[in-house]
Amino acid sequence: MTTPVIQIKDLHKSYGALEVLKGVDIVAGTGDVVSLIGSSGSGKSTLLRCTNLLEDSQSGEILFDGEPVKWSGSGLNRRPADRAQMIRIRTNLSMVFQQFNLWAHMTILQNVMEAPVTVLGRDKAEVEASALKYLDKVGIGDKCDVYPAQLSGGQQQRAAIARALCMEPKALLFDEPTSALDPELEQEVVRVIKDLAAEGRTMIIVTHDMRLASDVSDHVVFLHQGKIEEEGPPEAVFKNPQTERLKGFLSATV
Ligand code: ADP
Ligand code: MG
Repeated sequence: MTTPVIQIKDLHKSYGALEVLKGVDIVAGTGDVVSLIGSSGSGKSTLLRCTNLLEDSQSGEILFDGEPVKWSGSGLNRRPADRAQMIRIRTNLSMVFQQFNLWAHMTILQNVMEAPVTVLGRDKAEVEASALKYLDKVGIGDKCDVYPAQLSGGQQQRAAIARALCMEPKALLFDEPTSALDPELEQEVVRVIKDLAAEGRTMIIVTHDMRLASDVSDHVVFLHQGKIEEEGPPEAVFKNPQTERLKGFLSATV
């Protein structure tokens, strides 16, 4: 077996006295698509943010490409200890958010090029070539010179996906990428995510779209109040749920 890209072992995360993640384990191997489902407040976003070290966590291990994250301190003071490692992991786990977070004052092309040029210090001409390639790939190659406000929500989200891809990450993390979109625009983003899954990209996708989760996932994790309540391949989770909580959740969402 190859080394998983992302391994999370017994992760605990609290905000003050509120324990949001109560011992979560997740593994994503190369090319795996893992979907995270669960009610609002169950800890899905927190788990993604902990995975790419946007948030600290109190205990448990996170391994990236088999390399354990180094920590300093303990309890509520536990922090990543090695800044270079933290930046390497963050840039290798590109995140796509519900709100696309594009820079309003930059064109779409500038938005996509920004981080690879300023954060990674890559060659501008090379980054531009790959930015154009990714904008084409998500179907908005003709929009590179316009500003975000001139695009529909679905186009903005596809620009945000191109921006994530332009970091050439090892894996992509999606946090409800379609939930801010009208249903007809949702599908154009779903199509892009399906293409990425078919290409064998490693992804963790938080979604309320059970059809998307069912279509693209190798593994589905149902989170309930900060714990994995049930998990398995999509056929099992969606067609043959075992726990009352998952049954209740699925009947409430469809
Ligand atoms: P989900 O994404 O599944 O809806 P979240 O991970 O956003 O859930 O939130 C899980 C819990 O953590 C919620 O109770 C939420 O209020 C709480 N929470 C999230 N972020 C913070 C924060 N920065 N400070 C305090 N509490 C937070
Ligand atoms: Mg969330």
